[in-house]
Amino acid sequence: MAALLRCIVLWMALLASAQAADYLELTDFQLIDGTGAAARPVKSLLVRDGLIVAIDEAGVRPVAEPDARWTRIGLAGAWVIPGLIDTHVHVSRFPDPRQGERILAAAVRGGITGVRDLAGDARALGELERAIGAGEWPGPSLVYSALFAGPDVFRSGPTAEMATGRTLGEAPWARLIEAKTDLRQAIAEARGAGASNIKIYGDLTPRLAAAIVREARRQGVQTTAHATVFPTRPGDLVEAGIGSLSHAPYLVWEAVDTVPDDYGKRIAGPWDTIAPDHPRLLALYRRMAQRGVFLDATLYVYKAMKDYAPGQMDTSWTDAAFTWGAQATRLARAAGVRVTTGTDWFEPRGDGGLPHTHDELALLVEHAGFTPAQALVAATRDGAAALGLGATQGTLDIGKSADLVVLDADPLADIHNTTRIRLTVKRGVVVAPH
Ligand SMILES: [Zn+2]
Repeated sequence: MAALLRCIVLWMALLASAQAADYLELTDFQLIDGTGAAARPVKSLLVRDGLIVAIDEAGVRPVAEPDARWTRIGLAGAWVIPGLIDTHVHVSRFPDPRQGERILAAAVRGGITGVRDLAGDARALGELERAIGAGEWPGPSLVYSALFAGPDVFRSGPTAEMATGRTLGEAPWARLIEAKTDLRQAIAEARGAGASNIKIYGDLTPRLAAAIVREARRQGVQTTAHATVFPTRPGDLVEAGIGSLSHAPYLVWEAVDTVPDDYGKRIAGPWDTIAPDHPRLLALYRRMAQRGVFLDATLYVYKAMKDYAPGQMDTSWTDAAFTWGAQATRLARAAGVRVTTGTDWFEPRGDGGLPHTHDELALLVEHAGFTPAQALVAATRDGAAALGLGATQGTLDIGKSADLVVLDADPLADIHNTTRIRLTVKRGVVVAPH
């Protein structure tokens, strides 16, 4: 009996020390909560073990336990926004496996608290997710994907480097799909590889693309697709129930009578002959809004591609794609489509520069008619929702994760002020910008 009591006492002591709470209190700032509401002054925002428990009078201010750690940071003159979400990155395709860690660590210092990787090596991505989850270094929440595509993509596409050591097309995260593929098995294996999203990429018929979406939904897995999957057009994907469409310029194929079945044709879109407000496109935007399909517009990649590797690839088409894509994004938002901020361009910044997610926000304002408030909603609430993280991230309210960015200037006055970062907080952990 005494032994049992000793055991219980010891266990309770352990429990008490395990429960020593961590408090972070931020005081005196303007709060932009990610819902689109105006900024409001806040005297105190209190975080307990990574979650927001009180904002001024709202919520419960706990009486801190005697052994609790309490950090108070005064933020006079600052603005606080939710952490930014990038819905389109690739962080595991570098020969040096530490590169992914460097990119993600720099991302969180640069205000990015959640990312969706849209095709990479799931073995490397799983290790990054583990290390971030274990608190070995601060990084953003990481959602990642399995790429599903037809034979053309495995002949010429960027798939070999994603699955070194595996037979091409047979890795669960880089899967060749044909009519005979057992999709139930393929999606179960993708889940087993840690993917929570299927990326439908190219060379798939409408029938096959729809079957993938159907089975993914049945197994509780999210779906994204290139806006046109050749020969599958955007409208086919929307009717199938796709979660997000990537790359606004590829929406153009909705208004073409016959979509080619060669996915290499995506760079030859008829941007000069089909207007973004073509009746078939206006109908598509309305349908996307009705069905809750997110648009991962990725304007930045079309703006920047020609400067990335001059002379190494054909970029004669990117200016037309950018201009058209920005107009389509403007019209889609006006129709009620939730747009998110993906860059597709998450390379290491040797210059110590900020993630290009900030450039995507500015492009939405300067080229796609968004107000700064609308761009912030795209980059926070709607991005988190697209990643399936909307219940805990994307807005700043009681019960939400303390994922936020402290800015030295008002981003509603000038969207470029998202770059004026004083510090980032990821699940209650303070991360300095440098
Ligand atoms: Zn991509």
